[in-house]
Amino acid sequence: MARVYNFSAGPAVLPEEVLKEAAEEMMDYRGCGMSVMEMSHRSKVYDGIIKEAEQDLRDLMKIPDNYKVLFVQGGASLVFASVPMNLMKNRKAGYIITGQWAKKAAAEAKIYGDVVELASSADKTFSYIPDCSDLDIDDDLDYVYICENNTIYGTKFHTLPNTKGKDLVSDVSSCFLSEPCDVTKYGMLYAGVQKNVGPAGTQVLIIREDLIRDEVLPYTPTMMKYKIHADNESLYNTPPCYGIYICGKVFKWLKDMGGLEEMQRRNKEKAAILYDFLDQSKLFKGTVRPQDRSLMNVPFITGDADLDAKFVAEAKASGFENLKGHRSVGGMRASIYNAMPKEGVQALVNFMDKFEKENGNV
Ligand SMILES: *Cc1c(COP(=O)(O)O)cnc(C)c1O
Repeated sequence: MARVYNFSAGPAVLPEEVLKEAAEEMMDYRGCGMSVMEMSHRSKVYDGIIKEAEQDLRDLMKIPDNYKVLFVQGGASLVFASVPMNLMKNRKAGYIITGQWAKKAAAEAKIYGDVVELASSADKTFSYIPDCSDLDIDDDLDYVYICENNTIYGTKFHTLPNTKGKDLVSDVSSCFLSEPCDVTKYGMLYAGVQKNVGPAGTQVLIIREDLIRDEVLPYTPTMMKYKIHADNESLYNTPPCYGIYICGKVFKWLKDMGGLEEMQRRNKEKAAILYDFLDQSKLFKGTVRPQDRSLMNVPFITGDADLDAKFVAEAKASGFENLKGHRSVGGMRASIYNAMPKEGVQALVNFMDKFEKENGNV
């Protein structure tokens, strides 16, 4: 078995312990004589799996009782639509535009109501987080929306915006469970799990109960009503059963590692290895304003597209996969999620150092 160091932005690296355990349980889940993939979502065994996954997530994030946890299908991109459908009352919401995912979420919300752009960092290719301490927030906004960690550009809100009492809705797909999180600061937060937690196809939504309402926008499909999923404990129809099972294993793995404080310590340590290297390198440089840097996604460039391509190709040949930057930004991006070991980041930095010595005519 040869595992590479996988720096993919998503779907992304998962803990080896989890993959091995899933492999062991593939043919016969704990004496059931079948795989979790093959079992009824109404069975007692599966009920145990989904309930335990939810409880472990609640323990990890210390989710208060007045927040519901929903496991749903459809990709984070479908949540771009379900947010306005469920949360718009005045049909007006504020969006902070810090990258493509926020832009897409705002574009989707425009189908259903007025979108007020409260702040944007488009002027400098989304390389920073705008000051959101004193935004011009109208009284009739239904919510304020952010993408908390910008997977493509490598920026992160280290301070949440001052929403002046409006409910904050946050896409945390690429920083989910990477550090402690105070759920009470949000009306709703959600993640597509394929960035940091599990296989694509499952979304985790955490919503304050009073935001789960009967009166949603007209023509909202049943499957997109938060109330339907909440009332049926994520079992209104067939949920993404196998994905939830893997997420549950990752939640247990995170607990075993020491929880989110410990993950934050590890993630800071890993990111520092890479950022410290970038800050002293004469060939490579980071593209993000230092105080807004993400711990999860680290974009960098040499400033020469041909050299970037050479680096990506040589890195691949040496077992460092998926380092090419997003097609909209170019350069390189190393995604160093929870499951990327420190040794992987150190090995990448050693490789970059070697590449710099061989190619840096500086
Ligand atoms: C990947 C990503 C999305 C889109 O996820 P899909 O599940 O492919 O729809 C949305 N938001 C963020 C922050 C992401 O990283």
